[in-house]
Amino acid sequence: MADVYANLIGGEWVTSTAVSRNVNPSDLSDVVGEYAQADAAQTAAAIDAAASAFPAWAATSPQRRSDILDAAGSALLARKDELGRLLSREEGKTLPEGIGEVTRAAQIFKYFAGEALRLSGERLDSTRPGVDVEITREPLGVIGLITPWNFPSAIPAWKIAPALAYGNTVVMKPADAVPASSWAIAEILVQAGLPAGVFNLVMGRGSVVGEAIVSSPKINAISFTGSVATGRRIGARAFESGKKFQLEMGGKNPLVVLDDADLTVAVGAALNGAFFSTGQRCTASSRLVVTAGIHDRFVAALAEKMAALKVDHALKPGTDIGPVVSQDQLEQDLRYIAIAKDEGGRLVTGGERLTRETEGYYLSPALFADTTNDMRINREEVFGPVASVVRVRDYDEALAVANDTEFGLSSGICTTSLKHATHYKRHAQAGMVMVNLPTAGVDPHAPFGGRKGSSYGAREQGAYAREFYTTIKTAYVFG
Ligand code: NAP
Repeated sequence: MADVYANLIGGEWVTSTAVSRNVNPSDLSDVVGEYAQADAAQTAAAIDAAASAFPAWAATSPQRRSDILDAAGSALLARKDELGRLLSREEGKTLPEGIGEVTRAAQIFKYFAGEALRLSGERLDSTRPGVDVEITREPLGVIGLITPWNFPSAIPAWKIAPALAYGNTVVMKPADAVPASSWAIAEILVQAGLPAGVFNLVMGRGSVVGEAIVSSPKINAISFTGSVATGRRIGARAFESGKKFQLEMGGKNPLVVLDDADLTVAVGAALNGAFFSTGQRCTASSRLVVTAGIHDRFVAALAEKMAALKVDHALKPGTDIGPVVSQDQLEQDLRYIAIAKDEGGRLVTGGERLTRETEGYYLSPALFADTTNDMRINREEVFGPVASVVRVRDYDEALAVANDTEFGLSSGICTTSLKHATHYKRHAQAGMVMVNLPTAGVDPHAPFGGRKGSSYGAREQGAYAREFYTTIKTAYVFG
């Protein structure tokens, strides 16, 4: 008998007639839990609760807000092994990655516990004698948070923590595929003493719960992370209804490897960046742009390392790569593998459906060579363990190919040349640039976000998060 998890609305755990039964992608016989599916009326009730709770929470002392966020961070840390395991069961990340992500979520709560006390304004001299100009920051009101499935704990944390730290109230919809980690955060916030209605969790489908959040006139702002298609739709609706919004979306992140790169560093960066977390990262190094002099050695060394990766049950000791998250995602990955073959890409290794002791969505990591940058495999986000290599003549062509994409999230280069590293850092058209590192893997206190089709609006994470979660007031005071 699976546990049934309820929605959190106005401080009450509220069940629904509809439930979704979520299974472990490593073992389809393992039911992670049954989750109440909110309907539009329950979502509206959650929004009303958040609106009612807003004035008191906005007036709550920063110290009290800080204490609650700090307690939530401590609880996440204390439960990191249990919740890391839960995350692995619901999403398919390996256990070390699951525990690492929950630890990261805890650090984010602790960071914003500090930020709650650091919010400050500014005073300017006026052009008029006797007048002070004061710039202060205020919360926005009720924020709708809509999150994807690939970071079930960290992405909710990096939205919830700043929203609450700066005095907003929240209605959150986690991805339907991974509600368990968000439910655990909701439970922890209640136990940490968060007043009723300040944080509300509504689980259910994007087309129902997500739509109800986006269309509500009582929601003041929306922070969304997910695919480009959904993000653009939400952004257009939010703009029309006058909501502030930020969108973090997909990527097709290039990792350039130059002739002078340290081969071990470059192969390590590509292996980690393209395939860890089963390649299901918005910052995955899915496009490997390699100059001719190192190309063959790089492809051979990477393929050898890939073949040695252990793809298995996410909780098994020694597993390097767990399953992909769902049947839909598996089908999408296989579709792109077929497309890459049809387009003339040479499959160097992987790309096969694997069977293991338990029935799950296992796929061997795939590497394509002899691809060109105009192929779909290099233009569209696959969001799985699939990477492709584009051979280029020299640095100039590498930079041009790296930038030739509608996305602009993360961009990397492996080189021992300071000149090329510096030039790339300046000219890569991306929100984040990595030198001798995978395109994935960021610090939680550094601003996160992209350019072009990848992102819209203010950065997430760290002190920069205040640009989204607060609004500025300029006051002129005479006397
Ligand atoms: P998705 O399909 O766009 O879904 C994201 C969220 O939006 C889910 O909670 C989804 O609910 C909800 N949603 C779907 N339709 C909606 C609608 N009409 N109105 C309101 N909400 C709606 O993305 P995903 O497959 O979960 O995540 C993978 C994508 O996220 C990839 O493109 C990846 O690159 C991107 N991502 C970006 C970043 C970043 O920071 N740039 C980080 C991580 C992931 P359901 O779950 O019910 O469909």
